[in-house]
Amino acid sequence: MSELLDRLTGSVHVVGASGAEGTALLQYLVGRRGLTSVVGHDFAADPRAFAKSFRRANVAIERTERNEALRALRKLDFDLRLRDRYLEGLDGADLIFASQNWFNYDSNLPGIPDAVAAGATLKGVVDLAMDLFSGIRVGVTGSNGKSTTSGLVAHLLGAAADGWRVYRGGNDRDHQAKLQDLEAAGADDRLVWEVSNRHLRDRPVLVDVAVLTNITRNHIEDHGSWDAYVAAKARLPQHATHAVLSATDLVSQTVEAPGTVWRFGARSDRGAWVEDGRVWLAAGGCHDLGPLAPFALAGEHNTHNLLAAVCAAAAAGASAERLRGAWHDFGSLPGRLEPVAEQDGVRWLYDIQATTAPAAEAGIAAIGATAPVRLIVGGEDKGMDFAGMADAAAAHARRIYKLPGTGADAFVAALAGRVPVTECDDVDAAVAACRRDAEAGDVVLLSPGCAFFFSRFLDGGPSFRARVQRALAPA
Ligand code: ADP
Repeated sequence: MSELLDRLTGSVHVVGASGAEGTALLQYLVGRRGLTSVVGHDFAADPRAFAKSFRRANVAIERTERNEALRALRKLDFDLRLRDRYLEGLDGADLIFASQNWFNYDSNLPGIPDAVAAGATLKGVVDLAMDLFSGIRVGVTGSNGKSTTSGLVAHLLGAAADGWRVYRGGNDRDHQAKLQDLEAAGADDRLVWEVSNRHLRDRPVLVDVAVLTNITRNHIEDHGSWDAYVAAKARLPQHATHAVLSATDLVSQTVEAPGTVWRFGARSDRGAWVEDGRVWLAAGGCHDLGPLAPFALAGEHNTHNLLAAVCAAAAAGASAERLRGAWHDFGSLPGRLEPVAEQDGVRWLYDIQATTAPAAEAGIAAIGATAPVRLIVGGEDKGMDFAGMADAAAAHARRIYKLPGTGADAFVAALAGRVPVTECDDVDAAVAACRRDAEAGDVVLLSPGCAFFFSRFLDGGPSFRARVQRALAPA
């Protein structure tokens, strides 16, 4: 039995009981495993506030199913400590499960670090998932492209399946295998898990195949320094049997991995690359996997994500034979250069997931390579360097449609007048201005490059797609 499963026999505390991770843990620990000494903590003041918080945290689940899940959670026999008793008894815990973001809540400080100093083990749902799963575990991390690459790995492993089932988990709320199902899976099955920097902040996550897409400036605030952030990302490949690393990203090249190293993006002895429009895999010989096209995801960055996924799938046992062309039927992803409308020769794309300057830069360059861009930006600054995004916009954008925010201000400052800017109060104003200005052949691209665009400008109202369609509808 693993050390973690061993510890389940002691006093177990779950912090953040109403959250998606807390709920999954309670359902498994109490509902499935029948543990009787589990304490759940939640900052909600009373049962009503708990229900509200549960619904907010579990939005990805369909409504009826969500209400059913809440009822099932309420029936579980565990000790729930709400706001007035929050973290009560934590000092006597053997094992604490906390959400990946626990350190960003003042109410957890110094309670959780003190309990750890007193001897408790601190874990997250990811650690338990990795322990319970007996098949091959693929972890995907990196500053950009985690979700895309995880989706591609799962797709390739599914297409190449040789009697195995593929499970998914991690930050993508739409693809969450239950801990119960992971426990029941067989030794031949595969698990693909998106691992965030926060999971890796103070401990490794143990996987068989570790993918590191790239490392750019992001989430420094969670780690205190750039060096600490790089060290966190490096923890995934450092504890894996196979490490899939970029051949072109300079920071990734400094990462040392003790296992078998695969390189993507340039020809190597073990890895994947594109040459003359064809995908190549070197793995016990050199294999031509066929033409890259058709591939639904635009841009060089997405080709890199695919090459990383090809390496990961091969490292996880997929044969070159079965991988051939397996990405051709992979569709586009919601919120990532997602086409939302096309009219009068103008295409409208939604890249809301580009919440950092390097992510937006990649999208602008990808689209700008084929069409002039009208770029909608806005949102807050999280200590980003906007120089690269500004250079990409200067090369490809006809005009910037700028919503408010310190990040958008910093981006416009970095542009230094190279592209004209229209100030817009909100998304509808930006859409109306783009509709007025755009000419056939243009692409309107919403790619904030900054934080909190969605929560500030779209959350609670119509989607971007709905707003664009309304603006384009005949009067
Ligand atoms: P993550 O899960 O790491 O946030 P996603 O796959 O959701 O990444 O992609 C978010 C955005 O990041 C995309 O819309 C795209 O603009 C950008 N992006 C994706 N992959 C890469 C990459 N390999 N390098 C740079 N930017 C990328």
